[in-house]
Amino acid sequence: MKEHTNLPRLSIASLGGTVSMQASASGSGSGVMPKLDCDEQLAKVPQLREMAHLEIATLGLLPSASLGFAALLEVLAWARGEVDRGAHAVILTQGTDSLEETAYFLDLLWPFDAPLVMTGAMRAASQPGNDGPANLLAAAQVALAPNSRGRGVLVQMNDQVHGAARVRKTASVAMAAFESPGCGPLGDVVEGVVVYGQPPGPREVLPLPHRTEHRVALLEACLDADTALLKATATLGYEGLVIAGFGAGHVSGSWSEVLGHLAPALPVIVATRTGSGPTATASYGFAGAEIDLQSKGVHMAGRLCPRKCRILLWLLIGTGRQQQLHGWLPR
Ligand code: ASP
Repeated sequence: MKEHTNLPRLSIASLGGTVSMQASASGSGSGVMPKLDCDEQLAKVPQLREMAHLEIATLGLLPSASLGFAALLEVLAWARGEVDRGAHAVILTQGTDSLEETAYFLDLLWPFDAPLVMTGAMRAASQPGNDGPANLLAAAQVALAPNSRGRGVLVQMNDQVHGAARVRKTASVAMAAFESPGCGPLGDVVEGVVVYGQPPGPREVLPLPHRTEHRVALLEACLDADTALLKATATLGYEGLVIAGFGAGHVSGSWSEVLGHLAPALPVIVATRTGSGPTATASYGFAGAEIDLQSKGVHMAGRLCPRKCRILLWLLIGTGRQQQLHGWLPR
């Protein structure tokens, strides 16, 4: 293929996920597995080589539930290095299951105006109508668009562009599996053109964590839950705790009592388990509601979902900034 010397440099890495998955040659019954490396994924989108000079890396072949913070820090180091070496933008392909968490993790540590665009697929590469190639093409269009700059990490799925802090996987198998509840996507890809509703806003980024061995627990409040696991978080050595609370950020009276003992010793965040909307700060007066919880030193998550709260708290502790937690929780 002809070399286009003055094309922008676009770095693309794959981590695994359904976008890389295929059925085994032996046929049905054993399920799809991560198999395609980055080169093989890109082979299905030949147009990409007309759009940019590609730098390609296969950084993993994992289902995304098996990614972890240590692996993400390595991916981040690779992506930052690519920008330092002149990449106009970076694309990562991975599984969709943990995409809402990995995107937010990387966004909190992404210091460049250059976009980092993440994408995946809901249908495996060996399935008819697989969406991986279309998502990769749209991700490249997003990555190369001048109006994508300064927006941090973006998630492109199904021709929509989502911000890392709000995007969530809200459907298990549907093609339109990603939403940004309460605010909608930042933009759309229409006939290859990326259209945003708003210009980029200010961003705040954390330095790289100097500690990585600490752990933050995430527990969901639910009807008639006992307090055994909740109490154990302190003795098991967790350094932070996130509760996916009822409604506007509520727990039972018995959980509130335990949180009152835990909160002086470790940062505790109560978020909403509902999937959209903010936590309250000043509406409800019962034991276990926001006024009671805040009086005990518990932080209300605002609009940040429980999983993203855990990512934020882990990074704040890792950078010694847990005292700044309140300022990072958007109302
Ligand atoms: N179902 C997943 C996906 O969409 C598997 C994973 O997250 O790796 O890729």
